[in-house]
Formats: sequence, structure tokens, C-alpha cells
Amino acid sequence: MAKITARIESIIEDVIRRNPGEVEFHQAVREVAETLGPVLRKRPQYAEHKIIERICEPERQIIFRVPWQDDGGEVHIHRGFRVQFNSALGPYKGGLRFHPSVYLGVIKFLGFEQIFKNAVTGMPIGGAKGGSDFDPKGKSDAEVMRFCQSFMTELYRHLGEFTDVPAGDIGVGAREIGYLFGQYKRITNRYESGVLTGKSPHWGGALVRREATGYGVVYFVEEMLKARGETLEGKTCVVSGSGNVAIYAIEKLQSLGAKVVACSDSNGVIHDPRGLDLATIKHLKEVERRRIKCYADEHPGSTYLESGNIWSVPCQVAFPCATQNELDEDCSRTLIANGCLAVGEGANMPTTPGGVRAFIEAGVSFGPGKAANAGGVATSALEMQQNASRDAWSFEFSERRLHEIMKNIHRDCHETAAEFDSPGNYVVGSNIAGFTRVAEAMLAFGVI
Ligand code: NAP
Repeated sequence: MAKITARIESIIEDVIRRNPGEVEFHQAVREVAETLGPVLRKRPQYAEHKIIERICEPERQIIFRVPWQDDGGEVHIHRGFRVQFNSALGPYKGGLRFHPSVYLGVIKFLGFEQIFKNAVTGMPIGGAKGGSDFDPKGKSDAEVMRFCQSFMTELYRHLGEFTDVPAGDIGVGAREIGYLFGQYKRITNRYESGVLTGKSPHWGGALVRREATGYGVVYFVEEMLKARGETLEGKTCVVSGSGNVAIYAIEKLQSLGAKVVACSDSNGVIHDPRGLDLATIKHLKEVERRRIKCYADEHPGSTYLESGNIWSVPCQVAFPCATQNELDEDCSRTLIANGCLAVGEGANMPTTPGGVRAFIEAGVSFGPGKAANAGGVATSALEMQQNASRDAWSFEFSERRLHEIMKNIHRDCHETAAEFDSPGNYVVGSNIAGFTRVAEAMLAFGVI
């Protein structure tokens, strides 16, 4: 085993040397690679064929200029990215993020995670991610449209329903997907519905896609709690963020009888001890695109903490649903001290490695994003199925499929963790279950 551990350490060092400065990517690779020792011991062919080394190198990385003009006529230049990481299981699949913090290291960490996430869903989709350092916040609809058109004018040649199928992520919702699809259709002269997911249900989108990541993370946590003889009913919960994932996690939690007492945005935290009013949050965020602090104006019993730490609000179940590395070791120790039983990562890699270690050591049921937030991409794959068959499923049928998928992902991760001597450790379970699926396909295809 010492030899395998040394080999994995040298793979990680190589990734760090070959991808300087991409700290989030280094973190994501380490988090996966460090759990794979027991698999290499059981299946030495993966080491012989250098599967881990090959998975760590993207199949293709595309970086391009995105010029656009604002409403006043001023020209702006942004950088666009698409990292097509791994297509062993199907066409590349993964969202686009528009946020000023985007650079190659963020896109590579997200694309790397996406490979394993997509694999644990059991659907035929490879892993990719893309985006830009453009910030849609505060821009007019016309400005967002011009940016999306410029972005797609470069990206379209790398996409296709059998090649690469992007979706939304931070800063990319139904509005942006509409503009992106419109430009793709115009350039290619093809109504290729399956080239993007997260479309509006009015023109090829799947019902439940909007809700899928948030609902899915709640279903996953429900299963983790069931495994320890608990339910969500009556539990006090905290959900960070107030975007797509957070809003629909709150909706599903409330429908299952949980009380959600806090949420946030990048400026601050709202704490409403009587339970959040979701209609207000939806109106502020989905309709008016305003800041979460406005919630306090309408709900005098609540408090707004500018730059507050959401994880200091006591809860039994925590849902980090905003962004990467938002929950560090100190936050996790506060949550544990306050009696937190379970954590479901709606966001990608929101918990730092120290935070994850603390939760697992304390016996908190910890659902890593790779498994817990896979409902979004799984429902995107269902959208692709509907587009391919020119069909449109009902909300109830689609939600039942999503629920089944999340239960299966939970069972798979739970069983894999036990098989590899780490019962209850969903980090080990999801990494190994996802990796094994990808590795088997890569072995079958030879050295490519
Ligand atoms: P979104 O609709 O753009 O919402 C993001 C939320 O997080 C907003 O409330 C935003 O606040 C907050 N946020 C963003 N950056 C932040 C920062 N640096 N510090 C504090 N808060 C921050 O995005 P989303 O689709 O919900 O995605 C949230 C997370 O889930 C991301 O990690 C994403 O990769 C992951 N995810 C999304 C999906 C999906 O289907 N959408 C699927 C799987 C995983 P502001 O408005 O103030 O920026």
C-alpha cells in the first residue's frame, strides 16, 4: 500500500507542476486521488494503463476572446473558456459559469469534478465545464444578450448534441441559455435542441430541470438521514446562497416539513427564526434581481447581517449552495458544536478539505457535491433524452425519475464506501464509484 500511496502522491505533484497557480484544480485532484489507493490495489490494471494520469489531463481546452459593446457603445473584452475534460462515457456535459472570479483553474476544477459526478448518475455523459469572467450582475438584458451572442459565435464550432452539451451554472440561467441557443441556431441553421440544456420548457426545455439540483440535494440528504434512522421533518436547516440551487433546496425542504431559517448572497446573510418566506426570496431573486438584504424590509422579524457568517446560525442540517470553499474548518467546527447531523453540498466543492475531515471525524453524514448535487446534470440528461425523442414529459413523471436517480446514487455511494472499508464515507463512495465507471470505459477504448 505504501508504494501505491507514493505513486498517487507523485501523480498529484505532477498535476501541480504542470498546472501552476490553478489552486482549485489542485485541490479537486487531491481530493479525488487520495481516495483511490484501495481501487488501485484491487484493480492494478488501472495503474498499468495510467488511468488516473490520463483523467487528470483534459482532452481539450479552449480559450477565446469575447468582445462586446455595452449600452453606451463602449467596447469590453472578456475571456471565454471550455474545458472538454473526458468523453469516455458520452458527449461532454457540464455548465457554463459567468462570474468575475472565473479563470482556467476554476473551470478545470469544475470540469474535473463533473467527470465523476456525471459518472455516478449512471447516465451516458462525459465531463466538461466552461464560462467567462463576465459578470451579468447589473447589466441590462440587451448587454447580456450581446455578450452571449459574442460568446457563442466562438464556442459554437466546438459544440453539438453528440459532441458537447453545455448547461447553466453561476450567472447562467434561463435568460442566458435562451440567448446562447438563439445564436447557435442562427449560426448553424439547425434547431438542434439537444445542444444545450436548461432551456425554457416553452421551447425544448425539460420540466423539473430548474428545480432539479436543489430538489436532488434534499433527496440525497433525506437518504443519508434515513440511513441513520432520522428524517427531515421538523429539522432546522440553513441553506447558503439564494440562487437557483438554494431556492429549490429551500422549496423541497419546506415541502418535507423542515424549517429553513437562513440563506444568503455574496453581500450578507438573512436569518429568519420563524422560517424563511420563499415567495419573497423568489420574487427578489428571480423577478427583481435584487439583493437578499431587501428581505428584511418585508419581514421585520428577520435580521440581515452584512458580511455575516451563515454557518454560525445553529441548525441540524446544513446545505452549502453558493460557491467553492465557502465552508472552512472553523465553520464546520461551529456547525458540529451546534449539533449539526448532516451536510448536503448543493454547490461544487463548497467545503474545504479541513472542513470535510472535521465533519467525517465527528460522524456528521456528509454528502459531497459530486453525489449530492448530481440531480441537476442527471435531469439535463433526461432533457437530452426528451429532445432526442421529440417528447416532453410531465412534471410528476420527471420528478419521480429524479427522485429514483438520487436514491440510486445514494445507494451506490453507500455500498461502494462499505465495499472499500469506509462505511458511511460518501466522499470515498462517490469518488470510487464514479472513477471505476470512467476507468472501465477508458480501458475498453485503448490508449487514446
Ligand atoms: P446562481 O443561481 O448564480 O446562484 C449563486 C448564489 O451563490 C447566489 O446567491 C450568489 O450570490 C451566491 N454566491 C456566488 N458567489 C459567491 C461568493 N463568492 N460568495 C458568496 N456567495 C456567492 O448559481 P447556482 O446555479 O445556484 O449555483 C450555485 C452552486 O451550485 C455553484 O457552486 C454551482 O457550480 C453549483 N451547481 C449548480 C447546478 C445547477 O444546476 N445550477 C448544478 C450543480 C451544481 P450573488 O447573487 O450575490 O452573487
